[in-house]
Amino acid sequence: MKPAPFAYAKARSLDHAIALLDGAPEARILAGGQSLMPALNMRLSTPSLLVDINRVSELSQIAQRNGQLELGALARHAEVELSLLVARLAPLLAMALPHIAHPAIRNRGTVGGSIALADPAAELPACLLALGGEIEIASRAGRRTVAADAFFKGLFETALSPGEIITAIRIPVAQPHDRFGFAELARRHGDYALVGLAAASRAEPRAIRLAYFGVGTTPVRARAAETALARGDINAAVAAVARDLEPSGDVHASAAAKRHLASVLLRRVAAQVIPL
Ligand SMILES: Cc1cc2nc3c(=O)[nH]c(=O)nc-3n(C[C@H](O)[C@H](O)[C@H](O)COP(=O)(O)OP(=O)(O)OC[C@H]3O[C@@H](n4cnc5c(N)ncnc54)[C@H](O)[C@@H]3O)c2cc1C
Repeated sequence: MKPAPFAYAKARSLDHAIALLDGAPEARILAGGQSLMPALNMRLSTPSLLVDINRVSELSQIAQRNGQLELGALARHAEVELSLLVARLAPLLAMALPHIAHPAIRNRGTVGGSIALADPAAELPACLLALGGEIEIASRAGRRTVAADAFFKGLFETALSPGEIITAIRIPVAQPHDRFGFAELARRHGDYALVGLAAASRAEPRAIRLAYFGVGTTPVRARAAETALARGDINAAVAAVARDLEPSGDVHASAAAKRHLASVLLRRVAAQVIPL
């Protein structure tokens, strides 16, 4: 199919992108285009205007600032995957990135696009939740920061309002005794996960965060399982996760199968985050 007609504008800077968005509530931002272009072609999305941010170089940074790792919204999945800084400061991202789609898609797809799209089976939103990260947003009204815990509202629904653009995500950098775990089950490598789990065990202050993906309308924290795992009780954590999650069945797996896979993943990830 072909997309419905739309206007197109190439933003020269962040301010220019914000100005373009401000005058057009039906506008859509074009980042990597890996999800938006198919949606346009299938007419699932019919924006009046595409604001192309690919030339806005100020959104591409991967940097350490004030004890946080900052990834610009336009940082490509492949750049994050190969970054030595990311591997050192946010090892969970380095574990998760190779599971996102295929290299051709990772070469174009962006951090901001993945977070804004908020696919409930996507890896990055769950990692950001597990890491206690935050999302920086800009608009004509100024800048605001939203914690990952408050950002993902529903199925493909986020705290973003019309006229707003994600500029960066920020993650507290890993400390020497922090541990991270990641596992997912997909039909083929590169497919969206049937069920996945991203985990962060922080030493100071002591906390474990478990963020599942593919089991709900958003990435989901398994809070009772987190408490049990913080005590080092893996069996109790596995029992608790059945109460934490309320997956719906889909064409790939029943709700019961997803619950089972969630417990399998918890045992695998627990072995990564709990020191033997
Ligand atoms: C075959 C295939 C397999 C895939 N498999 C996976 C997978 O396994 N795991 C996974 O996580 N993803 C997967 N993806 C999606 C891929 O990771 C995309 O890159 C990602 O979903 C969107 O990023 P993008 O930069 O391409 O965004 P785009 O497609 O350009 O935009 C997506 C949405 O986000 C909005 N947007 C983009 N940037 C911003 C911003 N800075 N601020 C506000 N809104 C913004 C757009 O307006 C649009 O609504 C797959 C895609 C394909 C085509």
